[in-house]
Amino acid sequence: MRHLIPATLLALALGGFPQTASTAQRVRSELPFPDLPGLITLRCDLHMHTVFSDGKVWPTVRAEEAWRDGLDAIAVTDHIEYQPFKADVTTNDARPYDLVRPHAESLGLLTIRGAEITRGEPPGHWNAIFLKNVAALRQNDHRDVVRTAFEQGGFIFWNHPGWQQPNWQSVWYAEQQEVFERGWLHGIEVVNGSTYDPIAHQWCLDKKLTMMGNSDIHDPIDMAYGPVHGTVRPMTLVFATARTPDALRQALFDRRTAVLSENRLIGEAKYLEPLFQQSIAILNPVIRIKGRNSVLVQVRNTAPIDYELVFAPKSSDLGLPGRATLAAGKVALIQVRGLSDRASGRRVVAVPCQVTNLFAAPNAGLSTALRLEVEFQPAS
Ligand SMILES: [Zn+2]
Ligand SMILES: [Zn+2]
Repeated sequence: MRHLIPATLLALALGGFPQTASTAQRVRSELPFPDLPGLITLRCDLHMHTVFSDGKVWPTVRAEEAWRDGLDAIAVTDHIEYQPFKADVTTNDARPYDLVRPHAESLGLLTIRGAEITRGEPPGHWNAIFLKNVAALRQNDHRDVVRTAFEQGGFIFWNHPGWQQPNWQSVWYAEQQEVFERGWLHGIEVVNGSTYDPIAHQWCLDKKLTMMGNSDIHDPIDMAYGPVHGTVRPMTLVFATARTPDALRQALFDRRTAVLSENRLIGEAKYLEPLFQQSIAILNPVIRIKGRNSVLVQVRNTAPIDYELVFAPKSSDLGLPGRATLAAGKVALIQVRGLSDRASGRRVVAVPCQVTNLFAAPNAGLSTALRLEVEFQPAS
């Protein structure tokens, strides 16, 4: 019997790396969150670092990772005031953006110019994005820095408010109040890395600030997220009128966001509700089994996250269980009993439920309804 040598081993034995092997191919994992009516859903990570501050990778790597992770827009936001590798790389504040942009654009990603304003607490760290000139932010007083970012048209958000507090109990300082009252504060990270901050979530609701969620990644992204870890990176879903930087910026100022954090979405009900509904399709409303009192409804979830449902107690009249999971990208069978099948025609049953992993308020699920449809046809 002939001994077959796999092509990859053969290539290695001949001294070359197998460039043509499928493992060398660059692949993007898509995140099929639906568009909302009249809007486009943009998947954004607007806080990440490179060797130009305390990150561990070159800027072009951030674009490559983002494309592979299914993102639409990124901002590299290196620290202005903290550059531990400055003996090895330039302190020219324009370089990270100038390096990342061509690579990102070659992959069809939007790239936003930004920086992290890095001060002790208070006030802590601000991210400023949509900047025109990062170097102009090198000023002593944090108010002058934030004002300059604002005057450049920047969108400014408070990063990881609780990271220096015991148990991440975020504190709203006088410094935050001042910047807020001047109209310079536009958003807060309710998610930074793997941490969800319910206090920041409530502030965004009360003060009408934009909810942000970002990786703040310093290492190569797959050291923290990806298939090995069973997680996707956190990101901000932005509901924009077009796939352009201007439309992205306007959507952020208009607070049209939701935040993905593991298998949760955090946002206002007015965005979570249509995101959920647009993800759901009833595949077989036409069912005819006269004489039986139960039908099987197939519910497809096209979104890349599971939806964890808890049905209202009265749903037991329809034979529904207390809970159901609509798994990401799959079709769930839901058995419904007690529908009248005495006449042909369509029945729509809106079953009240909570989606417990869609946080419309801090740690509280979205109240909505699952619309089950059944079409009864005459007996044959
Ligand atoms: Zn920071
Ligand atoms: Zn950071």
